[in-house]
Amino acid sequence: MRRSIYLDYNATAPVRPEVIEAVASALGQTGNPSSIHEYGRAARRLVEDARAEIAALVGSKPARVVFTSGGTEANNLSLKGSGRSRILVSSIEHPSVLQVHASAEIIPVDNQGRINLSVLETLLDEEGENTLVSIMMANNETGVLQPVEEIVKLAHTKGALVHCDAVQAAGKIPFNCEELGVDFTTISSHKLGGPQGVGAMILGKGLEIVAQQLGGGQERRRRGGTENVPGIVGFGVAARLSHEGLSDMSEKSRARDVMEQKLLAAAPNARVFGLEVPRVPNTTTISMPGVPSDTQLMVLDLEGYAVSSGSACSSGKVQASHVLKAMGADDKAAGEAIRISTGWNSSPEDLDLFADAWIGLFQRKGERPE
Ligand code: PLP
Repeated sequence: MRRSIYLDYNATAPVRPEVIEAVASALGQTGNPSSIHEYGRAARRLVEDARAEIAALVGSKPARVVFTSGGTEANNLSLKGSGRSRILVSSIEHPSVLQVHASAEIIPVDNQGRINLSVLETLLDEEGENTLVSIMMANNETGVLQPVEEIVKLAHTKGALVHCDAVQAAGKIPFNCEELGVDFTTISSHKLGGPQGVGAMILGKGLEIVAQQLGGGQERRRRGGTENVPGIVGFGVAARLSHEGLSDMSEKSRARDVMEQKLLAAAPNARVFGLEVPRVPNTTTISMPGVPSDTQLMVLDLEGYAVSSGSACSSGKVQASHVLKAMGADDKAAGEAIRISTGWNSSPEDLDLFADAWIGLFQRKGERPE
């Protein structure tokens, strides 16, 4: 029988069974959370219970959680609504950050994918007061973590605000927005095992945002539009379960490290991107010398492994990854990288089997080291 092993959690996680149940039940319940009758009040309770779960996951207060249609909207809202006109973004941000302001200035990263703090400092010395710095907590392709606390301290000293895209960090590492002092944080439900099309922007203490979706006064006038009640309910359940699951993450990182050691022992000329710096526990991006990533994806898919390439292919056309190129990879190395990402329903055995398939392919088609 053909295997079917899903190792693409950073693209989207399978929806958790408890989420499916909660969403189905919410869909069966009538009520607009803004209505004052019994039905409306019941819907409001569902939304507020979910808001509390999201606040608990990220270490904030429920009143600072703004529900959106996903990570993309939360990033757009933060970058457009912060009130700051000068925007600094790192070179490895998600397109939903990189493409918001054509005039955004770029902060480079080193060959491990960590931002260059001295360049950031120089840029902030030019002008801090009017500036928003947008830095992701964990990169979606490599899993590399940024020193967010240091970045926030530096930015605040210079009068700048900080937005942090924590879509790929939430549920994988513990963090506390309030202790970090981040001004705007983005998270997304479907990376946690919740439904797609729902996310949140979390405001820092005492901050406000200029709404970008105008209409009703929902979400304390920060985001107009009737709330996606079933989606928000599912998001809340996924946030609670991800929060509880944080304690299992050391097992995930052990299994990931064992797999990487196995792959590198078989192919010492392969590169694991960000190997030398802290990463989230579930992500590996590795190149297979001599084998283009689309060939790897097709062969592995036929063998029953769902992984993805480090290339941006949301539009169907494959381009070398801007993240890997920013880390100094040439087109060839960037074009030979694939991403393996695990999650709540993965087992160490999944990675063990995957490693055998990857090594088998490398031995058939890869470029052996001299
Ligand atoms: N930011 C990062 C780092 C992501 O990985 C993604 C999704 O891939 C997003 C933002 C966008 O989130 P959504 O799919 O909820 O719009």
